Amino acid sequence: MNTINDFYQKLEEANKTAKIPRIITSGQGAYLTIDGKKKLNLCSSHYLGFAVDERIKRAVKDAVEEFGVGTGYRTLAGTTALHLKIEESLARFKHAEAAIILTGGYMANCAAIQTIIGKEDIVISDELNHASIIDAVRISGVKNKLIYKHVDMADLKAKLQVAADIQKTPKANGDTPLVLIVTDGVFSMDGDLAPLPQIVTLAEEYGALTMVDDAHGEGVIGRGGRGIVDHFGLHGRVDIEVGTLSKAFSVMGGFITGKKVLIDFYKQKARQFLFSNALTFPDLAAVREGVRILETSDEQVTKLWENAKYLKAEFGKLGFDTGKSETPITPVMLGDEQLAISFSSKLFALDVFATPILFPMVAKGAARIRVIPSASHSKEDLDVGIKAFTTVGRELGVLK
Ligand SMILES: *Cc1c(COP(=O)(O)O)cnc(C)c1O
Repeated sequence: MNTINDFYQKLEEANKTAKIPRIITSGQGAYLTIDGKKKLNLCSSHYLGFAVDERIKRAVKDAVEEFGVGTGYRTLAGTTALHLKIEESLARFKHAEAAIILTGGYMANCAAIQTIIGKEDIVISDELNHASIIDAVRISGVKNKLIYKHVDMADLKAKLQVAADIQKTPKANGDTPLVLIVTDGVFSMDGDLAPLPQIVTLAEEYGALTMVDDAHGEGVIGRGGRGIVDHFGLHGRVDIEVGTLSKAFSVMGGFITGKKVLIDFYKQKARQFLFSNALTFPDLAAVREGVRILETSDEQVTKLWENAKYLKAEFGKLGFDTGKSETPITPVMLGDEQLAISFSSKLFALDVFATPILFPMVAKGAARIRVIPSASHSKEDLDVGIKAFTTVGRELGVLK
């Protein structure tokens, strides 16, 4: 048999165990339609309900009416006044000097690291960082990757010491190697926060750059959803903040905020910026309206937290283990993979949609159902979910 046939055969084998996602035939509100039935949506990252917000829908319709859809390459014929305006407003929202928009949080992480870090520099990364950070570090080609234990500041300090030793040998061009500490702001599977004040203090002590991925922080924590830097009052002390427009902002895209000189450099050099298209008008219009809503009212953010607190308190009273989350991310810890899978399918039979989170998204033996309430849920909606979790929890012996 020839190699190519072999190759396709192997793919076919591998595809046999593929997980098939449920097919959704509605928008991403408090409820979804799946298999023609209404299901309570308890696992999307549309924290603020912007995916179906009437104001955002109207803003997008108006923009499409005026501009159509596509833009272009930012460096060629795709930089519109709207891109610049939204970069300005995202920078203002994050209290940063400047912002650059890319086509995703994944792209933004890759751009943020690859553009400034070369193989002789040093990256120090939390072991539970998002896959896009891991890939970003990989494509930078950096040799000195130091991984510290999750949120363990003693270990971070030890890694900074190792980095300081490596720094004693200059790079081929005579420069001192850069040290970059990178962390998720909110860890997406557990909902815990990076100890950013301590990270920043250590970075300042050792002369390292800091980068935080705020994908699950913006729109959620900080004043009016301004993110983790605002939450800890660290304005101007974190070098690179990465954001996504796909979670709380409910569209597509990512962005980086930081000092103007850094953002200008990214606009000159980031391969993800130079060789990938710019955001389309519908995305831009939705973000503009999303930022406007957040800057004029914290109603959505307040509702989100009310829902999160209620849900966590009720789950706690029932006896579920919801881990160490400090955010609306509410993992219901189950441990065993099969248990998590049957828990989710029994919920689905009760018209509640909450997917199991399994290896490699989390460690083996740490399977869970990650529940995320949003501002679009009413208390009654959450009660529907809590009731279903109670029924299934008892049936499967998770609850007494
Ligand atoms: C979702 C997520 C991303 C990826 O963002 P996209 O805009 O979907 O590409 C990056 N980092 C973290 C921590 C995330 O949760």
